[in-house]
Amino acid sequence: MPRETITVGGVIVEPGQRAYGSLYAGHLAARTEVRIPFQVLNGMADGPNICLEATLHGWEPMGAEILRRALLQVDPARLRGTIYCLPLANPFSVEFGGSVESTGTRVNPADLLDLNRVWPGKRENAWLTEQMAYVIWTEVLSRCQYLVDYHDGTGACDELPVAFPHAIPEDGAVQATLADGVGGSGGGNRLTSEYIADMNGKIRAMAEAFGSPVIWWRQTPVNPAMISGHCLLNGIVPLVVEAGGGGQIDFTIDQGVTCTLNILKHLGMIDGEPVLPERQLMVEQYVVYRSRTGGFYLPESGIALGVEVTKGQLLGQVIDPLTSEIQEECRSPVNGMIISRRIKMPINPGGYIAHIADLDSTIWSRENG
Ligand SMILES: [Zn+2]
Repeated sequence: MPRETITVGGVIVEPGQRAYGSLYAGHLAARTEVRIPFQVLNGMADGPNICLEATLHGWEPMGAEILRRALLQVDPARLRGTIYCLPLANPFSVEFGGSVESTGTRVNPADLLDLNRVWPGKRENAWLTEQMAYVIWTEVLSRCQYLVDYHDGTGACDELPVAFPHAIPEDGAVQATLADGVGGSGGGNRLTSEYIADMNGKIRAMAEAFGSPVIWWRQTPVNPAMISGHCLLNGIVPLVVEAGGGGQIDFTIDQGVTCTLNILKHLGMIDGEPVLPERQLMVEQYVVYRSRTGGFYLPESGIALGVEVTKGQLLGQVIDPLTSEIQEECRSPVNGMIISRRIKMPINPGGYIAHIADLDSTIWSRENG
């Protein structure tokens, strides 16, 4: 049966074709257009629709580079299904807010809202960020059965690829809406035990197939205002991932490309077997270690991505940049593996030092030979 032509953002994409375009989301005060760029690969054969989306947070642009490289390796004439790619979902947060030199800002500088806290967005009586979410949802995401949401270690930290599956808790608990009415209201009574089991099984299979050395499994109450939570409540299988950081090209980008292609292989959209690391672990506990104070951060040598550390081991020190006085000794609170590590020296209170997978909370592991 011949596949259908797709129209998205006013762009017509024939079966077997790749196309680029942008979603129109409004105008700013000086009439600058707000446009969200996309790439679509419309396969020749039937298969799932997947949304690959990066940079909801503008200070985390490395997912865009991973997706650019990965999709150059996908031939739409041999693809099964359709890939909707939104590599720069929150464009002004990349371009403004910090500066290009400091890799953008987490929120949208136009209204200071977080594009990962406003789903499914609104068109009327809505902030710009809500209108952008609405356009993404109505024009792209609502057509899909799968979502992969890419984040990175921000400008301050480098990070291994890691799958952060948000699964639904056994009791189907959904968080309440935010007080100011921004964000979604959940899915009512649709979360039957069958729905939860089916969704969680698909998320787990996708997380394992992504092929990161560590998977952080989370089953906390669903936040319907997050893109992953909104998908969870609407039959779209979401996977949150992180990879790379510091705005730099290194091995984490190549690994992120491999992981991205693994997902497409897992879903049967492209040919080939997933390329997996020798060992994969799934943990339930994961430490986001942040500084108590400010100063210059000096890492200990040997605290590299992927190394194992013991509880109490020194990761680095925050020093007074004038007097050399040690302000804080940063020690691992767990026996763990370093998943992200700070690469930027100046640090304010609360700055990211490391993400550490708690190896004592391992719930699954696999040797891939
Ligand atoms: Zn993020």
